[in-house]
Amino acid sequence: MNAPVAKPWVMDIAPYIPGRATTDDGRKVAKLSSNENPFGTPETARRAYAMAAAELERYPDASAADLRSALAAHYGIEADRIVYGTGSDEVLHLAAGSFAGVGDEIIYVRYGFAVYDIATRRVGATPVVAPDKDYATDVDAILAAVTEKTKVVFVANPNNPTGTYTVRAEIARLHAGLPAHVLLVLDQAYTEYLDPEDDDGGLELARTQTNVLVTRTFSKIFGLASERVGWGYGHPDLIGAMHRIRAPFSFGIGAGRAAVAALGDAAFIERSRSHNKACRAWFAQQIDAMGNKGLRAVPSKANFQLVLFEGDVTGEQAYKALMDAGYIVRWLPGQGLAHGLRITIGSEEEMRGVVEALRRLVGA
Ligand SMILES: *Cc1c(COP(=O)(O)O)cnc(C)c1O
Repeated sequence: MNAPVAKPWVMDIAPYIPGRATTDDGRKVAKLSSNENPFGTPETARRAYAMAAAELERYPDASAADLRSALAAHYGIEADRIVYGTGSDEVLHLAAGSFAGVGDEIIYVRYGFAVYDIATRRVGATPVVAPDKDYATDVDAILAAVTEKTKVVFVANPNNPTGTYTVRAEIARLHAGLPAHVLLVLDQAYTEYLDPEDDDGGLELARTQTNVLVTRTFSKIFGLASERVGWGYGHPDLIGAMHRIRAPFSFGIGAGRAAVAALGDAAFIERSRSHNKACRAWFAQQIDAMGNKGLRAVPSKANFQLVLFEGDVTGEQAYKALMDAGYIVRWLPGQGLAHGLRITIGSEEEMRGVVEALRRLVGA
C-alpha cells in the first residue's frame, strides 16, 4: 500500500492526555483534573468577551497590540519583547521550533510538564531527561545533562505535575551554568499563585539576558483556559525568531479583550490566590495526617497538590475511589507517576469531599 508516511519522530510522540470531565460511566462530576480556577472567570472578562460578539466576522489584530501594551504596563516590561500564542503551549512549541531541530537536544526534568516532550519530538530534536530531587527540579542534574548538542532547557516554576518551586538563587545558578547559546525557557504558568515575596527572578533574567524566555498564560489564575491566550517575554532576537513561525492569528478578538480585562481585575486575582494558598495548606495537612497509611503531599506552591500513595492503597485505587465519590483528579501513570494523583485545589467544599473520600478508602 502506498500512503503518506509520518515522520518517525512524530510517531514517537505519546499523544497529550487532557484532564477528564466525566467518569468512566459518563457522570459529570467535580473536575479537579486540569488546574482550572474554581472561582471561574472574572466578571469583567466575561463582559468584555460578550461585547466582542459584535465583531465575529473580523480577523483579530495580528499584532495583539492591545494585549501587549496592557502586559507591558502591568508588568513594567517592553511591549516589543512580547510574543504571544494560542495558549502558552504554543509559545513552548515556538521556542522548540525556533531553536532546535533534528540532531539537537532539549533538556527537561523527570516529572516535567508533558508538553515539553511533545514540543521536543515534534521538531525532531532529542529529549534529554534530567533526574529529579525528590520530585523537585535538580539544577545540578540539569547542568550535568548539558552537551554540545543542547539547544533548549525547559523548566516550569512552579513545576507541573509536582507543584515544586525552585528558588531565585537556584534559577540564577542554573542560568549562570548554561552556555550562552542554550535557551532557558522558564515556564511560569502558575506564578500568580506564589506569595508576593516569592519571585524566581525570571522576568528580570529575560529582561537582561539574551538567552532567557519567560512564558505565562491566562489559562490558570485568570480563568480563561477556554480562550487559549499565552505569551512569552525575552530578548528581541528571540522574540523575532519565534514570530516568524507563529500562526498569523493566535486567538480571537473576544479572547484578547477578555485577557486584558482579567489582567486588570486585581480583586479577582487576589481572591483566587489567597483561597488557593489557605485551601492548599489545609489539604496538604490532611494528606500528611494520613502518613501512617502511606499518603504524602509533595510540597506545592501551585494551584494543585501532588499526592503520593506509598502504602497499601495504590494511586489507581485512590483515583477510582475519588471518581466513585464524584471527583475527577489526574492520575499520571504515563509520566511515571502511577503512585501519584495530581489534585487541583478546588472549592473548600470539594476539597473536604476529597479528604473524606480518601479517609474512607484508607480507613483513617
Ligand atoms: C497549564 C500549563 C501551561 C499552559 O497552558 P496554556 O493553556 O496552553 O496556556 C504551560 N505550562 C504549564 C507547566 C502548565 O501547567
